[in-house]
Amino acid sequence: MAAEASEIITRVLNSREARWNEVRTLAKTQGVRAIVTVSLNIPGPGKNGKAALYWMAVSEGIRELIDAAKKKGWNTGTTIRNAGPAGSWAAVALVPEIGAAPLPEIKKAAEGIELNHPLGRALDLDVIDSLNDCTPLERVRKRPCIICGGETPAFVCAREKRHDWSDVLERMDSLIVAHFEKKMRV
Ligand SMILES: [Zn+2]
Repeated sequence: MAAEASEIITRVLNSREARWNEVRTLAKTQGVRAIVTVSLNIPGPGKNGKAALYWMAVSEGIRELIDAAKKKGWNTGTTIRNAGPAGSWAAVALVPEIGAAPLPEIKKAAEGIELNHPLGRALDLDVIDSLNDCTPLERVRKRPCIICGGETPAFVCAREKRHDWSDVLERMDSLIVAHFEKKMRV
């Protein structure tokens, strides 16, 4: 059991590193000013247990970001998507024609999706400054806990182990399923 668990952790860590390398490579591409990554906050060891469902959620998240960028007149470049033991993820490059848009504006748009989109509580959007050693921008508003909601930051519940990870996972899965079921009915 212990050996199996550590093998899973190693696979997740390697997959995370591979993802980071891909994002870094995209960030270093000529003309790229920033990268927005979309992933899911999957708790527990099975980061990609419901791969198709998670892939749909991440794809919708990156589409939302691209739509938000278009509305603001920010140009987007290459989009990359992948899935592995660390979970599904996607990333989009923002190119210099983002013009005067300061990176905090982009961060605000990304946090707006996390706060307002029906999948937002499940999604994790990061803005990476490609001209500043690929440093992720700091969150302005703390992400609320998916179970407690309101003003309770998720990191506090995680630090104090207030919820069983399987409960968090169940809440997340039901949120994603409910969203796509609703979409299919329309
Ligand atoms: Zn909580």
